[in-house]
Amino acid sequence: MSTPDAFTLVMTHECAHRVFQGHHFEGPNNGQWDEEMVADYFMGVRSGMQGIDIRDVIRGFQNSSGSMSHPSGPLRVKVMWFGKTHVEELLRRGYRPTLQGLFNDYMEFRSSIDDEVRRAFLDVGFSIVHRK
Ligand SMILES: [Zn+2]
Repeated sequence: MSTPDAFTLVMTHECAHRVFQGHHFEGPNNGQWDEEMVADYFMGVRSGMQGIDIRDVIRGFQNSSGSMSHPSGPLRVKVMWFGKTHVEELLRRGYRPTLQGLFNDYMEFRSSIDDEVRRAFLDVGFSIVHRK
Protein backbone atom coordinates (compact mmCIF):
# COMPACT_ATOMS: atom_id res chain seq x y z
CA MET A 1 0.00 0.00 0.00
CA SER A 2 1.30 3.43 -0.89
CA THR A 3 1.97 6.02 1.78
CA PRO A 4 -0.77 8.36 0.44
CA ASP A 5 -3.30 5.51 0.53
CA ALA A 6 -2.31 4.57 4.08
CA PHE A 7 -2.58 8.24 5.08
CA THR A 8 -6.03 8.48 3.48
CA LEU A 9 -7.29 5.48 5.41
CA VAL A 10 -5.83 6.56 8.76
CA MET A 11 -7.32 10.04 8.32
CA THR A 12 -10.67 8.51 7.39
CA HIS A 13 -10.64 6.42 10.57
CA GLU A 14 -9.78 9.47 12.67
CA CYS A 15 -12.35 11.68 10.92
CA ALA A 16 -15.03 9.07 11.61
CA HIS A 17 -14.18 9.36 15.31
CA ARG A 18 -14.86 13.08 15.08
CA VAL A 19 -18.06 12.63 13.10
CA PHE A 20 -19.47 10.19 15.67
CA GLN A 21 -18.03 11.88 18.74
CA GLY A 22 -21.45 12.77 20.16
CA HIS A 23 -23.10 9.49 19.22
CA HIS A 24 -23.70 6.97 21.95
CA PHE A 25 -23.08 3.45 20.73
CA GLU A 26 -24.34 0.38 22.52
CA GLY A 27 -22.04 -2.56 22.89
CA PRO A 28 -18.98 -3.76 24.78
CA ASN A 29 -17.12 -1.48 27.15
CA ASN A 30 -19.73 1.27 27.05
CA GLY A 31 -19.67 1.46 23.27
CA GLN A 32 -15.93 1.82 22.95
CA TRP A 33 -15.55 -1.16 20.65
CA ASP A 34 -18.32 0.18 18.46
CA GLU A 35 -16.66 3.58 18.19
CA GLU A 36 -13.68 1.75 16.69
CA MET A 37 -15.72 -0.52 14.47
CA VAL A 38 -17.71 2.29 12.85
CA ALA A 39 -14.42 4.09 12.13
CA ASP A 40 -13.02 0.90 10.59
CA TYR A 41 -16.20 0.52 8.54
CA PHE A 42 -15.72 3.97 7.04
CA MET A 43 -12.09 3.13 6.26
CA GLY A 44 -13.50 0.26 4.22
CA VAL A 45 -16.05 2.57 2.60
CA ARG A 46 -13.31 5.01 1.63
CA SER A 47 -11.18 2.23 0.17
CA GLY A 48 -14.16 1.01 -1.86
CA MET A 49 -14.98 4.48 -3.16
CA GLN A 50 -11.42 5.20 -4.20
CA GLY A 51 -10.30 1.76 -5.29
CA ILE A 52 -7.69 1.47 -2.54
CA ASP A 53 -6.28 -2.02 -2.10
CA ILE A 54 -6.66 -2.93 1.59
CA ARG A 55 -5.05 -6.38 1.58
CA ASP A 56 -2.06 -5.08 3.55
CA VAL A 57 -4.34 -3.45 6.12
CA ILE A 58 -6.32 -6.65 6.48
CA ARG A 59 -3.14 -8.68 6.98
CA GLY A 60 -2.05 -6.20 9.63
CA PHE A 61 -5.35 -6.29 11.52
CA GLN A 62 -6.19 -9.96 11.13
CA ASN A 63 -4.04 -11.28 13.96
CA SER A 64 -4.35 -8.40 16.42
CA SER A 65 -5.84 -9.81 19.58
CA GLY A 66 -7.93 -6.87 20.74
CA SER A 67 -8.11 -5.10 24.09
CA MET A 68 -10.70 -3.40 26.24
CA SER A 69 -10.51 -0.34 23.99
CA HIS A 70 -10.06 -2.02 20.59
CA PRO A 71 -11.94 -4.94 19.06
CA SER A 72 -10.10 -8.07 18.03
CA GLY A 73 -8.64 -8.02 14.53
CA PRO A 74 -11.10 -10.34 12.76
CA LEU A 75 -14.02 -8.12 13.80
CA ARG A 76 -12.28 -4.99 12.60
CA VAL A 77 -11.53 -6.70 9.29
CA LYS A 78 -15.14 -7.85 9.02
CA VAL A 79 -16.67 -4.37 9.30
CA MET A 80 -13.97 -2.88 7.07
CA TRP A 81 -14.58 -5.50 4.40
CA PHE A 82 -18.33 -4.97 4.65
CA GLY A 83 -17.81 -1.23 4.15
CA LYS A 84 -15.65 -1.80 1.09
CA THR A 85 -17.85 -4.38 -0.63
CA HIS A 86 -21.09 -2.65 0.34
CA VAL A 87 -20.15 0.72 -1.15
CA GLU A 88 -18.70 -0.95 -4.24
CA GLU A 89 -22.07 -2.65 -4.75
CA LEU A 90 -23.99 0.60 -4.23
CA LEU A 91 -21.79 2.40 -6.76
CA ARG A 92 -22.02 -0.48 -9.22
CA ARG A 93 -25.80 -0.20 -9.06
CA GLY A 94 -25.66 3.54 -9.66
CA TYR A 95 -26.59 4.72 -6.17
CA ARG A 96 -25.08 7.85 -4.69
CA PRO A 97 -24.26 6.85 -1.13
CA THR A 98 -24.83 9.36 1.68
CA LEU A 99 -23.21 9.44 5.10
CA GLN A 100 -26.56 8.81 6.77
CA GLY A 101 -27.45 5.97 4.43
CA LEU A 102 -24.05 4.34 4.87
CA PHE A 103 -24.35 4.69 8.64
CA ASN A 104 -27.83 3.12 8.63
CA ASP A 105 -26.53 0.22 6.57
CA TYR A 106 -23.65 -0.20 8.99
CA MET A 107 -25.97 -0.31 12.01
CA GLU A 108 -28.06 -2.98 10.31
CA PHE A 109 -24.94 -5.03 9.56
CA ARG A 110 -23.67 -4.42 13.10
CA SER A 111 -26.79 -5.88 14.68
CA SER A 112 -26.45 -8.96 12.47
CA ILE A 113 -23.02 -9.70 14.01
CA ASP A 114 -23.96 -8.89 17.61
CA ASP A 115 -23.42 -12.42 18.93
CA GLU A 116 -19.99 -12.54 17.37
CA VAL A 117 -19.08 -9.18 18.93
CA ARG A 118 -20.21 -10.30 22.38
CA ARG A 119 -18.26 -13.55 22.12
CA ALA A 120 -15.12 -11.72 20.98
CA PHE A 121 -15.38 -9.31 23.91
CA LEU A 122 -15.71 -12.19 26.37
CA ASP A 123 -12.66 -13.86 24.78
CA VAL A 124 -10.60 -10.69 25.12
CA GLY A 125 -11.67 -10.23 28.75
CA PHE A 126 -10.78 -13.87 29.45
CA SER A 127 -7.32 -13.56 27.96
CA ILE A 128 -6.67 -10.34 29.90
CA VAL A 129 -7.67 -11.97 33.21
CA HIS A 130 -5.53 -15.03 32.50
CA ARG A 131 -2.49 -13.26 31.14
CA LYS A 132 0.70 -14.27 32.95
ZN1 LIG B 1 -9.82 4.52 16.43
